[in-house]
Amino acid sequence: MAAGAAAPGARVGHEDVQPIIHADVGRNARRLPSRSSGHERRPLVASAAMSDPKHHEATAAVHAGERRARPEHALAEPIVQTATYTFDDTADLVRYMEGHDEDREEYGRYGNPTVRTFERKVAGLEGVDDAVAFASGMAAVTTTILALVKSGSHVVLFSDCYRRTRQFVTGFLDRFGVTSTLVPSGDIEALEAALRPETRLVISEAPTNPYNDVVDVRRIAALCKPRRIRTLIDSTFATPIHFQPARHGIDLVLHSATKYLGGHNDVLGGVVAGPSHLVSLVRDLRHVLGGVLDPHAAYLLLRGTKTLSVRVKQQSATALALAKALEGHPRVRRVHYAGLPSHRHHAVARELMSGFGAVVTFALDADLAGVSRFVDALRIPRIAPSLGGVESLVEQPALMSYFEMPSEDRAKIGITDDLVRYAVGIEDEADLIADVLRALETSRG
Ligand code: PLP
Repeated sequence: MAAGAAAPGARVGHEDVQPIIHADVGRNARRLPSRSSGHERRPLVASAAMSDPKHHEATAAVHAGERRARPEHALAEPIVQTATYTFDDTADLVRYMEGHDEDREEYGRYGNPTVRTFERKVAGLEGVDDAVAFASGMAAVTTTILALVKSGSHVVLFSDCYRRTRQFVTGFLDRFGVTSTLVPSGDIEALEAALRPETRLVISEAPTNPYNDVVDVRRIAALCKPRRIRTLIDSTFATPIHFQPARHGIDLVLHSATKYLGGHNDVLGGVVAGPSHLVSLVRDLRHVLGGVLDPHAAYLLLRGTKTLSVRVKQQSATALALAKALEGHPRVRRVHYAGLPSHRHHAVARELMSGFGAVVTFALDADLAGVSRFVDALRIPRIAPSLGGVESLVEQPALMSYFEMPSEDRAKIGITDDLVRYAVGIEDEADLIADVLRALETSRG
């Protein structure tokens, strides 16, 4: 067996889920050295000593995870576009298999230097030991959940989790004997009531899609930790610039890197970050399921993440200004943005987050066709699913993610025909607001 690898079936940390480790996974099954949790550190910065722990998020976004010495003295991260890695001779191979050569990779599904730099950068931004990257946010979601549950496990999700995450747990894992309970968005009492002796995992998002609910993750952690239940927060909407769930006791933090981390609507990716022993469980399963991030995609995500802080801060400031401009407008029934005092989670969002994100959801005083008229009258944002990139995007949830659902069924889960989801980009704040106000006037029925 490879040096440092746990024996097959051995328990890692205090997980009762068996890690996927077999001889054929090779040395890549080894556990990365565990670092202390670092939750208490503020400001946060990179693991792997690639950046100074005293630095703030904007500095971490640029420098965390990056090696100072690069081939050919290149400043930019090289794209190591290879499917496999060679050994000089059999002695070189044996040395590697015995764990004496930490600083190389074996095969593309087990690791890639460009991908590793991205993973270290995200770990640094989240202030945790390690991270593991995937081909998409959903590859990260499914692999992470599968790594943490087994037949007989029970999972609790908040009802407004990303639809595909909910679908995977409630409509797929149940085939394998994993049960689940959906609790109302943000309802901690309902969460407590749903916990069972066999509950292994609690999943939430913060803020949620599309209503921007911000659950108090401190209370989730306080309920779950003593029961040894793992907690997973999909922090895609917040980004590590505004919110670091691990600082509040959450075990694993997940991002659809397709959104803010990439930031340019040109690449898919996902990443999950946390303590070494949990990330290793997830990484080992990625080796088997194979949803790896491509090296070129990793490069694009690295380049995007370098500007994360400037983009996200500006996008959030513009979103707050847009939300304020919409609130009180005669054609707007309600604005759902956690930065507004009228939002039911404004107080907790203020305590936990340094900004409120760049998705503004609002209900128009109009039916589905009237809302479509407004969307079609907008001149700057493009109609598209997704969010977090430099271009503003707009969608009617009833016509996009929930199109096939009858209107009454959609309404039952809160997706009413009057909703607009506006994902703010980096365009000029005054231009975006003027465009929205003009469209509100010109699209009157
Ligand atoms: N999590 C959230 C909150 C999302 O909004 C999405 C996609 O929209 C995902 C996960 C899935 O990510 P991806 O599209 O990168 O697979």
